[in-house]
Amino acid sequence: MERLLVKESPLLLPLNKEKTIYDGFITVQERDFRIRILLPPDHQVKLAKLHCCWQLKQLLRGYVHIVKRRLHHSPDLVSFVLELKTVLEVALKSRTECRSIPPPKYYSQLITEMEDLGWDKLVFIDTEFRTLRLKAEDSSGRQHVVTVKLKPKHPLEAPVCTADLPVPLAMTWTAQSSLTHVHTQFLLLLESLAEFWAVLDEIDQKTWVLEPEKPSRADTMRRIVIGNNVSIKVEVNTRHPNMLPECCLLGADHVVTPLRNKLNSNMHLWNPECSVLQNLRDVLEIEFPSPATHEKSSFSVECGICYSYRLNSDIPDQVCNDSRCGQPFHQACLYEWLRGIPSSRQSFSIVFGECPYCSKPITVKCPPRNPEN
Ligand SMILES: [Zn+2]
Ligand SMILES: [Zn+2]
Repeated sequence: MERLLVKESPLLLPLNKEKTIYDGFITVQERDFRIRILLPPDHQVKLAKLHCCWQLKQLLRGYVHIVKRRLHHSPDLVSFVLELKTVLEVALKSRTECRSIPPPKYYSQLITEMEDLGWDKLVFIDTEFRTLRLKAEDSSGRQHVVTVKLKPKHPLEAPVCTADLPVPLAMTWTAQSSLTHVHTQFLLLLESLAEFWAVLDEIDQKTWVLEPEKPSRADTMRRIVIGNNVSIKVEVNTRHPNMLPECCLLGADHVVTPLRNKLNSNMHLWNPECSVLQNLRDVLEIEFPSPATHEKSSFSVECGICYSYRLNSDIPDQVCNDSRCGQPFHQACLYEWLRGIPSSRQSFSIVFGECPYCSKPITVKCPPRNPEN
């Protein structure tokens, strides 16, 4: 048993011949804690008395009942010392998890890294020096920002980086990496998306975009005005932005059907060397209304039921198919309206009824549930 104790805790030794007093250190996570164990003459562990140094006392605060129970149930001193070490390990671990203030080396490291990168790149740092925002300009002059959340063990642990991007921001990180590495990788990713943003910038500048209301750099979708209550929704591919995007024409049937036919019959004209906007013009054989030629207000026609344009974030995208009417409605408004009319009928998720304006047949799908409501 003694040999086992020497193996487990070589710094804990008997002080007397009777081996009733043990004194020395136990080692947990490379830290030594002074300890003295007094055994009764019959060496019964459950009657032993334990004296700890103040560090150990502090660590074991909250674990005293566990230590006492172990002391009572351990068959011998070796198993008790082993169990005490396990309790200490748990106590040490939970303490480091609670303590979030990084060591002084963290701050000197951070300053060195910022000096390497250049302080002019820093646009924000929080009061705890844990969250940084770094700016980066791509070759087309677009401004971007990457948010870097540093771990207390930086640079041993990789920081968490986020940015307004349409693709995941995956960073490679080693213990030798620094903020300069983050910035360089971010710039490379920005360059790989330059063509994608060029396509969307052209759309944003030369057409009226109904959705998203304020596009972010992460948005891949644009709903572009074609005419009164007619629009096209395009989903631009981030990797191959000039390829034919996913398109969806929205509006009354008599306007949308001829456009859809053009899109289908002219698809072969799509030229990946040209921009998406130019291709859409060629394939649909139309000119898009632009800020240079039209006011946006002429395309943001209010819903015929609630008389507003935006309902939460929805715009009126249900249009009466009668060519003389063409009144737009919010999906939610039209659905509620039709359900309240006795002559309407519902089949699965579709309600069939009459247009509140011209009384011609109209249908609407049950709107998706809004998580905000
Ligand atoms: Zn409405
Ligand atoms: Zn109508």
